Amino acid sequence: MSRTHTCPGCGRDDRVQAVPAVYLAGRDAVTSRERDSDGDMRTVTRTATTGLSDALAPVPQRPSYAIGCLGYLAAAVSFGTFLGGALAGKWFRDEPAHEPPELSGWHMPQDHPADPPPAFEFLGWISAFALLAAVLVFTMLLRRRTAFARVTRRRHVAEELWSHGWYCHRCGTVHFEGVPGEDRTPLTFQRFREKVWEHGGYGDLAAEQRAVDPGRS
Ligand SMILES: [Zn+2]
Repeated sequence: MSRTHTCPGCGRDDRVQAVPAVYLAGRDAVTSRERDSDGDMRTVTRTATTGLSDALAPVPQRPSYAIGCLGYLAAAVSFGTFLGGALAGKWFRDEPAHEPPELSGWHMPQDHPADPPPAFEFLGWISAFALLAAVLVFTMLLRRRTAFARVTRRRHVAEELWSHGWYCHRCGTVHFEGVPGEDRTPLTFQRFREKVWEHGGYGDLAAEQRAVDPGRS
């Protein structure tokens, strides 16, 4: 299908491109020649998301999962202190002869095993609190993820409308082509986003995550 679409803004078709194509092109790995700090030219490849691609996104940005690092840290602390406490407790119970020098002043009755000193009990508390923190973080992440999936569950409906959008690189506007009930009026990024996201049932997020005009290219 090599049908061309004229832009309703400028009346030309040479710089009109389908929205999904523009969106995906802006998400490719970009290779460029750059000058490094020593002034030498080098080839750099990175996955770049262009502002244009972002402005044409059919779905909101996923919530940040950065706090998950904190959860892993808390889990590691919990495990480490638990292991430390358990080993120390075992050590004191089973091998009192191996008491470190600073504890050699203790004189316990021979037939009672030595209890771990309070410092090791403290490790148990740290372990329990760290475990609680890890569980809280992971529960929060799971809920956030479920909420996002629920909000965007009709994204395929939004993407269907979105796929009928055409972007004019000259005008920096989007218009719909062949959508019943939609005319060919040139739309700003934000207006296009509102229409698409409302179609998917998450239009209120378009007000929170406004489309940023990346400047015309
Ligand atoms: Zn145009």
